[in-house]
Amino acid sequence: MPASILDRVKQGIVVGDGGYLLELERRGYVDSGSDREKVGTGKGSGQFTPEVAVENPDALRGLHREFLAAGAHVLQALTFFGTREKLGRAGFGAQTEAINAAAVRLAKEVAGDTALVAGSVSRTQLFEREGPGSAGHVRDLLNEQIQLLKAAGVDFFILETFFHLEEMRIGLEYAAASGLPVVVTMSFRPTTERCSDGYTVAECARQMADGGAALVGANCEQEPTRMLPILRDMRAAVGDRVGIAAQPSAFRTTDQTPCFTNMSQFPDDLETIQVSRRDFREFGRQAKREGINYVGGCCGCNAAYIRVLARGVAQE
Ligand SMILES: [Zn+2]
Repeated sequence: MPASILDRVKQGIVVGDGGYLLELERRGYVDSGSDREKVGTGKGSGQFTPEVAVENPDALRGLHREFLAAGAHVLQALTFFGTREKLGRAGFGAQTEAINAAAVRLAKEVAGDTALVAGSVSRTQLFEREGPGSAGHVRDLLNEQIQLLKAAGVDFFILETFFHLEEMRIGLEYAAASGLPVVVTMSFRPTTERCSDGYTVAECARQMADGGAALVGANCEQEPTRMLPILRDMRAAVGDRVGIAAQPSAFRTTDQTPCFTNMSQFPDDLETIQVSRRDFREFGRQAKREGINYVGGCCGCNAAYIRVLARGVAQE
């Protein structure tokens, strides 16, 4: 078996995998929701849910294989947006257990003895839809999913794509209590200075470290060059207490709109703002120079990007 993520990080920079939902949406296996409503508000109904794990398992298995062959040391089970309420909005609430279990089983099957499997836990969208008063409901939903993923046998957790630190802290409380290692990355929207409930990047990093995360960082929304300053702020805030993790998206944002899900190209014209693979190779080199401990990709990052990211890490 591969070393635990905690030991693996001590041996050198870990290369993760890329983004599943947008890639599978492009291939026709995930619904973006754009035919029904405005996507990108963070309040979407059934958008980008992971029922592909039970509806088209071969498609998901194939993408896992691509990331593994590209050099990923970790496969994330496709359990993003896999809480009961979010799946329920897409019509799959009754399959919550089956979808989470199938996603972990597929990732473990492909990972075999060569990669670790992370359970992905994301925001519920209830903080965006209903506000902080939804915290009690969020608590039940995240706790349920974390227990399902632990029972399915994940090696560790990646808590990702949280816009609100208050919601992240709820997830982290349960993930840390599971006894498994936890990697936590926030997504910064609509600005790169503060998360959606107003905490600075540095404060986010400190609170994630205090909450028991082994690695803290950022994912999604920004391309590598725009994410690097966020990671530097986090490193400055936590020093060497915890590792730094980064899974940027592969879309070019602007100074006015530094988060791709707020751009007019999301979700149907993203090909027009795709960054080049070369940017991910350079990110791999730069991340290693700067002592970042875990690098992968998020939305828009397919296996071609992970392959050159791994090369960049190896070259430096
Ligand atoms: Zn993403």
